[in-house]
Amino acid sequence: MTKPVLLAGALLLTNSLLAQTSTAPKLPPMDNPLLQPFATPFQTPPYDKIKVEHFLPAIQSAMTEGRREIDALVNNAAKPTFENTIVALERAGEQLSRITPILFHLNGAETTPEIQKTVKEASPLLTEYGNDISLNENLFARVKAVWDSRDKLKLDAEGKMLLEKTYKGFARNGANLNEADKEKLRALNKELSQLSISFNEHNLAETNEFALEITEEKELAGLPDFVREGAKAEAKKRGKEGWVFTLQAPSYGPFLQYADNRELRYKLWLAFAKRGFNGDKNDNQTIIANLVKLRHEKATMLGYKTWADYVLEDRMAENPQKVRDFELNLLSYAKPAAERDLKELTTYAKSQGFSENVLQRWDAAYYSEKLKKEKYAINDEVLKPYFKLENVLDGLFLLTTKLYGLTFKERKDISTWHPEVKTYEIIDEKGHLLAIWYGDYFPRPGKRAGAWNTGTRSQHFEGGQDVRPHVINVCNFTRPTETMPSLLTFREVETLFHEFGHALHAMLSHAKYETVSGTSVAWDFVELPSQFMENFCQEPEVLKMFAKHYQTGEVIPSDYIEKIRASSNFLAGIGTARQVNLGLTDLAWHGQAPTGESVSEVESKVAEQTEVYPLVPGTAVSPAFAHIFAGGYSAGYYSYMWSEVLDADAFDAFKEKGIFNPEVAKSFRENILSKGGSEKAEVLYRRFRGRDPKPEAMLRRAGLVQ
Ligand SMILES: [Zn+2]
Repeated sequence: MTKPVLLAGALLLTNSLLAQTSTAPKLPPMDNPLLQPFATPFQTPPYDKIKVEHFLPAIQSAMTEGRREIDALVNNAAKPTFENTIVALERAGEQLSRITPILFHLNGAETTPEIQKTVKEASPLLTEYGNDISLNENLFARVKAVWDSRDKLKLDAEGKMLLEKTYKGFARNGANLNEADKEKLRALNKELSQLSISFNEHNLAETNEFALEITEEKELAGLPDFVREGAKAEAKKRGKEGWVFTLQAPSYGPFLQYADNRELRYKLWLAFAKRGFNGDKNDNQTIIANLVKLRHEKATMLGYKTWADYVLEDRMAENPQKVRDFELNLLSYAKPAAERDLKELTTYAKSQGFSENVLQRWDAAYYSEKLKKEKYAINDEVLKPYFKLENVLDGLFLLTTKLYGLTFKERKDISTWHPEVKTYEIIDEKGHLLAIWYGDYFPRPGKRAGAWNTGTRSQHFEGGQDVRPHVINVCNFTRPTETMPSLLTFREVETLFHEFGHALHAMLSHAKYETVSGTSVAWDFVELPSQFMENFCQEPEVLKMFAKHYQTGEVIPSDYIEKIRASSNFLAGIGTARQVNLGLTDLAWHGQAPTGESVSEVESKVAEQTEVYPLVPGTAVSPAFAHIFAGGYSAGYYSYMWSEVLDADAFDAFKEKGIFNPEVAKSFRENILSKGGSEKAEVLYRRFRGRDPKPEAMLRRAGLVQ
């Protein structure tokens, strides 16, 4: 799943009390296009006029401006009100929130060493700047005064949400603590971030230090040429003869999938499964114990029962008990399905000469790959001619018109960051401008890998005016050549729909405040609009609209569509049980006070419930589980499956009444897509679906129930 790059919350980006400290050269503001109103169509950024040296002085000037606005707010003699404090804070530093997204967008889509340097210089300024706001006691006193009087204020739902988000933003950072505890919290934060950095360093070292060296060609049996070539190049890079395999995904993955030599598969798998668990200088067990202890300390200091309670407070899932129930419910379906999968896989392996009774983990990928090929003889090369990029885009536009009545008008007069970028004016069913949307689809040296949705302006209201958003999709699809158009794999088609789903969330937004508009929603709700769109890619009615052979015009055959659908559920039982295992492991560490149990003790309890493969002593997941110990997913790993349940359940509402049903589409648009985070996700969802989400649709889609 691709998490979108969100526009940073206005609270962090739009305000500052920071003095200008940098000595970077300053251009007079009049020469700096970033500091002037954008005199362009739809006030889009004038990319043709913006130069990298404009950013730092513009950001500094905008920070000074923001600081003035905050000062005025704090020194206001009038009693704090929602308008003069919460809304004023929301509006402060408008200029900065117009400039910084452009810099960060360019750094992702078309970077240069100069842009990277500018980001490096701007980032600490922006961080310090955010800190200066969140630590401003006089500002917090005013926010708290408004918060304390919230029951007497007659705020609408969106106003209540903005107030709550603003107040909690301070409180969750410790604004209510006494001086001694604030000091303690700062020390804790510092230590926590150090521990995560060390965790990552150990992981990296463990991954890089291991190498499987092969000198006998016969030991490469089963490996396709591209894997052999990669391994040969790796050996050469190290000044070695033969072939070298590593624990990096592009080397490790194919080796486990294809190598006939079971002993060597075991060797490589074992090294991978022992990362951070070798009892040496890169061991992560002590770091885990400390992280879990200090996170708990921080959470309890801030008034929460556990770290998971702290993390989940502003999420749709709300609390660890709900997450636990969610995981265990999934497991009750996934475990029997996983056992069925394993039986099928074992039977198949035996038919291929596997002579033992029990499949091991280092056999799993190997036999899965073979079985998959045998069951669904379909691959990217067969499908790609049906997915010419332009055809897929036409299909996507047609679908959007059918669902929401939107139309697309290509614009050639809007400046972009690269000539390949296509720009559209998106118009709603009443003929009003909805958004400007940019599609940037081919890899370039300055573009980072992957696919994402971002934007340089969020929808919001300004002086009664509806300010429409500027939304961007960036992907890395195969570039066309002189003789061949850009042909997508099926996964890329899904990616294109996915990112456009995020874009629709931003474009259809109708909210007053930027902090709660568009994709600024609860963390476990943000993938609903995007994954929801992926569902359409498996519907024959939709595919037949656009999946036509680029040479012959032939519509994609029905049995191809059937195979796409069937193969996407291949071994879904084992896959889901695995996801539940990781979700429960995360909860075991973060959903209760630290128990002092070892990694092995914690994991074996979870594995008892979830595992179908035999456990291998001396291996563990947690010491390399960077998502929860070094990334942003602590107490949040469940959200992968949570989002799947949501998108399948939402799509089921369409399937019940026809996938293009205008009333269901209208309800999805009005209750979900246009609302952003202006009300709690569970409330919005209930309004759309008439009830809470249920896992049945996801289970059915994955073939886990009949
Ligand atoms: Zn996404």
